[in-house]
Amino acid sequence: MIENADSKLTPGLYIVATPIGNLSDLSPRAASILAGADLIAVEDSRVTAKLLHHIGIKRRMIPYHDHNADQVRPGLIADLAHKSIALVSDAGTPLISDPGYKLVRDARAAGHAITTIPGPCAAVAALTLAGLPTDRFFFLGFLPSKAKARADIIAEVAAIKATLLFYESGPRLGAALAALAEGLGDRDAAVTREISKTYEEAVTGTLSTLAARYADAPPRGEIVIVVGPPGEAAAPAEADVDALLVDALARLPAAKAAGEVAKATGLNKRDLYARALAFK
Ligand code: SAM
Repeated sequence: MIENADSKLTPGLYIVATPIGNLSDLSPRAASILAGADLIAVEDSRVTAKLLHHIGIKRRMIPYHDHNADQVRPGLIADLAHKSIALVSDAGTPLISDPGYKLVRDARAAGHAITTIPGPCAAVAALTLAGLPTDRFFFLGFLPSKAKARADIIAEVAAIKATLLFYESGPRLGAALAALAEGLGDRDAAVTREISKTYEEAVTGTLSTLAARYADAPPRGEIVIVVGPPGEAAAPAEADVDALLVDALARLPAAKAAGEVAKATGLNKRDLYARALAFK
């Protein structure tokens, strides 16, 4: 925390989370930082102007988004020596599927003070609504829109024993759910939508039922897909594992064969490697 008890903010970078729908979710601390900052780095000044209007303030804003960040960043870093700069995104927590990490990296490298004002984040809010395990979760942001790239990413995370979180848009939802069902199996999932807004909802079901529901009915609004972890499948029979290992060993060196069978069965790769060596 780098703000003073008086209203003047110490020079430095203030990362400020803003509401993801309901403007009343702006925290009092976030509002006071926005009111006291010399400058606010924003994704879209029209969006942030609405928020500032809601709390009855006007501040100088500078656009900082994917298309100008590399040009704007050096100037912001220089200004941080003598200015308090708040970083906001259009909604939610900056840096989370939004610009900002390079600004934090460079501000830190330049020795400037940095603090964060935590608050709404759609991924975490979705997790709280979904009714799926929360002890381990893995955030993937937006899936690629091209089918092959999307399937590759899904395959990469299929073995992760955690709830998975994806940001998505209405028009792409049906295809994304179908790809997830195909790549992950028919896991429990939730489509959370319009969180903290009038039409907030969480629709739960298996990936295939959700894919069918949204195939020809793309919903409006902002969406987070939450997918439960892989089920605790019954351990495969030892003879089946051995057969898989023998098959893999005919094509691959022992370590790779163990890796392939570990991926297919969820069994420990080191144990499989030891077994593979015994077969060799
Ligand atoms: N930085 C933001 C955060 O902390 O959540 C996320 C920014 S990302 C560019 C925007 C995506 O977040 C949307 O496309 C949607 O997937 C998700 N999102 C944002 N607001 C949402 C809401 N109210 N309900 C559901 N999802 C939301």
